Amino acid sequence: MVIQTKPMTYDLYMRVDTNTRGHHQWFYFSVEVPPALQKSTVTFRVVNFTKPQSLYTSGMRICLAKKSSNYAWTKGGHDIKYGKSHLIRRHSSDPTKVIHYSMLTFSLDFEKTKEREKIFFAYCFPYSFSMLQRFLKEISLNYAHCDYFKESVICKSLSGIDVPLITISSRLLADPKHYNQIKLSEFEDDDSKLSLPMYKKKKYAIITARVHPGESNSSYMMQGFIKYLLGDSHQAKQLRKRVVFKIVPMINTDGVIIGNYRTSMSGNDLNRRYVRPDFRIHPVVAGIKQLASDLVIGRDSDEAKKQNEPVTANEDILCFVDMHGHSRKKNVFVYGP
Ligand SMILES: [Zn+2]
Repeated sequence: MVIQTKPMTYDLYMRVDTNTRGHHQWFYFSVEVPPALQKSTVTFRVVNFTKPQSLYTSGMRICLAKKSSNYAWTKGGHDIKYGKSHLIRRHSSDPTKVIHYSMLTFSLDFEKTKEREKIFFAYCFPYSFSMLQRFLKEISLNYAHCDYFKESVICKSLSGIDVPLITISSRLLADPKHYNQIKLSEFEDDDSKLSLPMYKKKKYAIITARVHPGESNSSYMMQGFIKYLLGDSHQAKQLRKRVVFKIVPMINTDGVIIGNYRTSMSGNDLNRRYVRPDFRIHPVVAGIKQLASDLVIGRDSDEAKKQNEPVTANEDILCFVDMHGHSRKKNVFVYGP
């Protein structure tokens, strides 16, 4: 929703995540600039952020893409401020208990362009489900001749979307029954120079991203990671010989498609559903747990489903890495148990 509050100033209201009453953080909208507004400055106020703190107070700028620049995403805007909004989130008769939303204010100078300008604005550089599909199609074509890449489906999402699962490991297609066994004949003499541990069987690494749909930066990390693993570097080749990578590049496909910031279509934070996921309401989380369970125990999926047992740490699984973005922390970092 948009309201013009005074000349050249607009208040914007983000919608809530589906089936929730909050999680306002992700915005994505476009503006068409009529010729009369060229060379003028417009101020936008996004008035209903849920979080009280933001990197906008540490120099983060607005993501924008202009038609005049072929919609290449960049960062811009000036006079960027983030603070208390006039909009009340929780009313109370006690003034000390009234809670306000937070508000982002920024201005943009509309430049003179030949054609009518159109500008997209976003919280973070968008990475849609269509972009993932395009990327997977591209690598499927580029690596069709390789035997270390396979694309499949882990399960259907709540809305019925096929959720992609990628497997990367050496001899995947040429030796489908035993590709998880280490084969010394695969190794060259100088491979021992790389001090990676070697086991009788390959270890499994489960790598996931985008459980939180608004953290689109995790999809860019995931895309780079997949490209690295498929690449020709010595390290990537060594990893493929020693490890089976099971990758779910977009856990919360529904949330991404709908445009949620935090939750799934059912309004659940899927990252808080790993202890007891419901196969009907949180199918992808249940699917990932079942995948891990199958890798550890090796039993068939129906039995795992029936027993719904927790997955316990096992030496077969080298790691579980879940990629996120963070709204307040800077740079790249790792949380571990
Ligand atoms: Zn997250």
